[in-house]
Amino acid sequence: MNQLQTLRGMADQLPMGINGWQQLEAIGREHMRRACVAEIRTPLLEATELFARGIGAATDVVGKEMYTFIDRGERSCTLRPEGTAGVVRAAIQNGLLSQGPQKLWYSGAMFRYERPQAGRMRQFHQLGLEFLGFNEPRSDVEAIVIAWDLLMDLGLKELKLELNSLGSKEDRLNYRNQLVNWLEQHQNQLDPDSQERLQTNPLRILDSKNPNTQELLKTAPDLLAALCPESLERFEQVQQGLTALQIPYQLNPRLVRGLDYYGHTAFEITSSALGAQATVCGGGRYNGLVEQLGGAPTACIGWAMGLERLVLLMQNQSSTTAAAPDLYVISQGEKAEAIAINAARELRQKGHRVELDHSGAGFAKQMKRALKSAAPLALLIGEAEASSGQLQLKNLQTNSSELVELHQLLSFFSPTR
Ligand code: ATP
Ligand code: MG
Repeated sequence: MNQLQTLRGMADQLPMGINGWQQLEAIGREHMRRACVAEIRTPLLEATELFARGIGAATDVVGKEMYTFIDRGERSCTLRPEGTAGVVRAAIQNGLLSQGPQKLWYSGAMFRYERPQAGRMRQFHQLGLEFLGFNEPRSDVEAIVIAWDLLMDLGLKELKLELNSLGSKEDRLNYRNQLVNWLEQHQNQLDPDSQERLQTNPLRILDSKNPNTQELLKTAPDLLAALCPESLERFEQVQQGLTALQIPYQLNPRLVRGLDYYGHTAFEITSSALGAQATVCGGGRYNGLVEQLGGAPTACIGWAMGLERLVLLMQNQSSTTAAAPDLYVISQGEKAEAIAINAARELRQKGHRVELDHSGAGFAKQMKRALKSAAPLALLIGEAEASSGQLQLKNLQTNSSELVELHQLLSFFSPTR
């Protein structure tokens, strides 16, 4: 029989590699807790229309990358390719926005049918933040500083924050016209993808990864020059806020978000250690989305981090090993095994990590495994110990043992809670 395999671009996270993920999730959660950002969880599967309306048919994500199928009730469903549209739908559907502005975060699996490479998967994971109902430049600064500090706390160095402003809707329309006029004059120098985008999503051409197109764009009209004074003033305030917090940034006038609903602040945090998949966090302001999805006009800013890329970076920077148990319990014989599981349970209820050996193998074999587990202590229960109630507690560092009764066992462990 054929061996069954994961689908292309989908990965198992195995126990020996799970530490980085858990560390990342714990630090992410802790930063959100400190910043009073509330967690929200939305379904993995949504109506296709949510993404078609919320992301825009002209984007790569909707045009080429979605996992879409018709379910048994003839509805078109899509595995979420990103988190923002679902969060905004949930906020509208559940009336969260009528309770005032919302600071929300999420994390979980996303699905995009892309060409898999290191740091680019078909099932991948994001941690994201969404501030709904916030328009002040200060809220842009807060959103960015939360992302920055979280990444710093992961021990990631050599990160670069790139910043741009896409201005207001009118600014973008004006600029779009200027850009299209200019690009049409250079159409034959554009790569095929960009030629196609000229019709569908011309701003996205700025973001092209094609080196010739990048070179050509050096002389394209400048987006910042197309911003009205109010948009420029707003952008200035965001920059001042970041400077005041000593967050280094670089302006990148070519930075546009791939999704249509972004305006004003756009940013990316990149790492030079990741090769082509350099962006670890992307975000920006999306004041148009809530209305687009049927809610009242609501100013929003948010970002999403790609967890696969962060885990790759964390592995580059430090090695992670599994935590050792506090105690390794060795037993042999029916009565001893019953005492062993009871002892393990009591210690676990007090918060200790206890590894229980079920093998029934000889003491020597079990002891070998105890040493390998790196537990500082082992509890040995043989038939003699089981009948006398005097259990052997062995210090695996000094090799000394003493006899203890079950009820005394707890006093050998420092309380964990
Ligand atoms: P890219 O230019 O790398 O395709 P994107 O603009 O499509 O990124 P976003 O939609 O902004 O990405 O998603 C936010 C973050 O999620 C990205 O910066 C990246 O870290 C991560 N990400 C996006 N797509 C993938 C993927 N297929 N596999 C792993 N991580 C991803
Ligand atoms: Mg992409």
